[in-house]
Amino acid sequence: MGKIIVAIDGHSSTGKSTIAKRLAKALDYTYVDTGAMYRAITLFVLENGIVQESLDIDKLIEALPRIQLSFKKNGQSDIAEICLDGESVEAKIRNLKVSKWVSPVAAVREVREKLVEMQQQIGLDKGVVMDGRDIGTVVFPEAELKIFMTASAETRAHRRYKELLDRGDEVTYEQVLKNVQERDFIDSTRSVSPLKKAKDAIHFHNSDMCLEEQFERCFNYSQRVIEKAG
Ligand code: C5P
Repeated sequence: MGKIIVAIDGHSSTGKSTIAKRLAKALDYTYVDTGAMYRAITLFVLENGIVQESLDIDKLIEALPRIQLSFKKNGQSDIAEICLDGESVEAKIRNLKVSKWVSPVAAVREVREKLVEMQQQIGLDKGVVMDGRDIGTVVFPEAELKIFMTASAETRAHRRYKELLDRGDEVTYEQVLKNVQERDFIDSTRSVSPLKKAKDAIHFHNSDMCLEEQFERCFNYSQRVIEKAG
């Protein structure tokens, strides 16, 4: 059976990664979390004084060739984790500080060029489920299946808030909602690869859908496309 590329795009905290991970497992495909790549660069930026009051874009561009990103499989979860200089930084990239700076970092053209090239390399042999903001529009415009996920900002902020509380982070719902709305704005209005639905993507509004229903629908879409691809 031929392999396909599944591109899952959408706003932050729409549950893309949860569905993408399950789908990849069910199809025996590789899951690629492109948000984690932008987050890892943001962590580097924060740890290396490239952000003070604002982001120093020249310093970031100058540092880019030194930022060594890779993925390494976690033996327990079987999920590939993002690494900086060979060390997994998965546990350090989901907090509100990284979330605050990731969209400005991701709006820098040179950052996107570096990451898009890596993402295209990973998907060369197909058999990938990749989630992000520009997968169906820029990284793989020829992807056989494109899903564009949306949900209300409040639903998304509630989901994210719960995740952060479960991890033990001290945040308020209002802070999380503000961050979700700010990222939506920056991601959708930036000049390079703004977040938008690809013309041929399935619009998937999931505010009122449980995880099981979301997964089943996405799995059925992929089965149909894989059968068609032969
Ligand atoms: O998916 P996640 O919320 O972890 O992504 C973090 C941020 O990375 C997004 O808000 C966006 O600014 C950026 N991003 C992007 N393009 C992608 C994936 C993520 O610009 N393909």
